[in-house]
Amino acid sequence: MQQISRARLIRCLSQAKQVVLISHANPDGDALGSSLGLYHWIKEYGFTNTSCSVIVPNAYPEFLSGLPSCSKVLIAQHNPELASRKIDAADVIILLDFNALKRIDALGAHVAKSKAIKVLIDHHQQPEPCADFYFHDVKACSTSELVFELTMPTVQTQKYLTKAMATCIYTGIMTDTGNFRFPSVRSKTHTIVSHLLRAGIAHYRIHEMVYDAYTLERMQLLGFGLTQKLECLKNIPVAFFSFSYQELQAYKYAKGDLEGVVNYGLSIKGIQICALFNEQEDGTVRISFRSKGKADVNRFARRYFNGGGHINAAGGRSMHSLSKTLDLFKTHIKELF
Ligand code: 5GP
Ligand code: MN
Repeated sequence: MQQISRARLIRCLSQAKQVVLISHANPDGDALGSSLGLYHWIKEYGFTNTSCSVIVPNAYPEFLSGLPSCSKVLIAQHNPELASRKIDAADVIILLDFNALKRIDALGAHVAKSKAIKVLIDHHQQPEPCADFYFHDVKACSTSELVFELTMPTVQTQKYLTKAMATCIYTGIMTDTGNFRFPSVRSKTHTIVSHLLRAGIAHYRIHEMVYDAYTLERMQLLGFGLTQKLECLKNIPVAFFSFSYQELQAYKYAKGDLEGVVNYGLSIKGIQICALFNEQEDGTVRISFRSKGKADVNRFARRYFNGGGHINAAGGRSMHSLSKTLDLFKTHIKELF
C-alpha cells in the first residue's frame, strides 16, 4: 500500500481535468462529511481547469442534506448514466470511507476498469487492493479526520480551511465517534476540532441538524423498537433489534430513521454486543453490529454476513429470511465469547 502525501495529491489534482470523489452506499455522516470536506478543499485550493464531482451510490438521509454543497452530490441511483460517464471520464478518482469496491454497488465495476489515478482515504479494517495510493489508518476515528490530516498537516496549510469544509469535517467526526465518546477519539481529534471551531463552525447547529431532525414517526419507531423489538439473549451479553419491512412501513420508514438505534442496546448494563436487523423490501436483511471492548464484530460480519467495518462497529447483509437470519445470528454469536 503506497501512502500518498499532500504534495503528491496536489500534483495529481493539478494535472487532472476531471476529479471524482466517491463514497459508500447508504452514505452516513462520515461518508458525506469526508467527501464534501475534500470537495470544499479542492475548490478553495483553486486547481485551475479541474472540475470536481461527488458521487454516492444511493440516497443519503434527509438530516444530512444541510451540509454545505450537499445538493451538488450526484446520487448514482437517480442518474446512473451520468454517474458512469463521470467515472469513465475521470483522471483522478478518490474513494472515501470504504474498503472494498462492493461497497459502492454498480459503481465499483466502473472504478475497477478505469485508468484514472485512484486514491483511497479510509479507516476501515483490511482495505482491498483497489487503488494506486492510500491514506489509510485504522486508528483514525473517521475518514473526515484523515481528510483534515492529509490536506492540513501544518498551520500554514490551514489557510484553505473554510467554514464550509470545517462544517463537513466536524459532521463526519461527530457522527463516527458517537459524539466524541468512542475509544477511537484521540488527542489529535480534539486538536482538529479546535481548528474547526476557529474556522467559525457553529458546532451546536451541526448537532441540531443531525440529531434534532426527527419526524414524529421516526421518534415513535424508536419507542416501538425499544419497547417491543429489543431482546437480550440468555447467558451471553448480547442484545438485538429486528424490524420486518411491514413494521417499518407502519412508521413511514425513511432512510436514516434507524440510524443510531443499535447503540441503545449497548446502554443496557453489561451488554457487550448489539445487532439491528432491518428487513428490506426485497426480503434481504441489512444488519448493523456494535460492540464494546474486544468483541470483534468486523470479523463476525465478514465471516457470516458478507460484511465488515471496524472492530466495534460493522455492517452486513443476509440473503436469508429475517427469521433464518436471526437463527444464524443466535447460533454463531456465541462463538465470540
Ligand atoms: P452501519 O451499521 O452504521 O451501517 O455500519 C457500521 C460500520 O460498518 C460503518 O463504518 C460502515 O461503513 C461499515 N459497514 C457497513 N456495512 C458494511 C459492509 O457490508 N461491508 C463492510 N466492509 N463494511 C460495512
Ligand atoms: Mn467512517
